[in-house]
Amino acid sequence: MTTLASDTTPQVWLGCLECSSNGLLVGGWYAAESADLVTSSALHGQPITAGTHEEMWVGDHEGLPTRGESSPAEVARLARRIAELGEAQRAAFVAWIATGGFVVDRDGLPCVAEFEERFCGTWGSFGEYAEQLADDIGLLDDVPDHVSRYFDWDAWTRDLEFDYTVETAPDGGVFVFRVM
Ligand SMILES: [Zn+2]
Repeated sequence: MTTLASDTTPQVWLGCLECSSNGLLVGGWYAAESADLVTSSALHGQPITAGTHEEMWVGDHEGLPTRGESSPAEVARLARRIAELGEAQRAAFVAWIATGGFVVDRDGLPCVAEFEERFCGTWGSFGEYAEQLADDIGLLDDVPDHVSRYFDWDAWTRDLEFDYTVETAPDGGVFVFRVM
């Protein structure tokens, strides 16, 4: 049995601030969820005297939405929030945060319940979503066939798209979010 690390597990590159101001690039990649638990000794690969080389900076990250300059503690909080979601929804949650149109809860973190209310799934294209929606709401149910075949799907889909945010999914297709 092999345990495969998921591609969506957020990672951060943490660097030592003091070394960096001395022109030395000392740091490494860590799981973002535990970024706040990395000790300076671990970061330097040798015992570090307490009170020195303590501050770390986030140099890079993977699998996390960009939110500007963050501390390891902030990154860890956000990564733990992302980990609350199931694997299937995680990438969509990250994409939703990256749109900037996300809603925060009272902890100041992107709210999972608000995300779930807006997320309409992963689709091959927005057009596919629109077709399914038209079916679900019975858009053309009462329209005779000889009329419905003239229905302007492109225009209808274009208009509908104003009420949604559509983001490219990393594994192909798009994530569709309802704008509320
Ligand atoms: Zn250092």
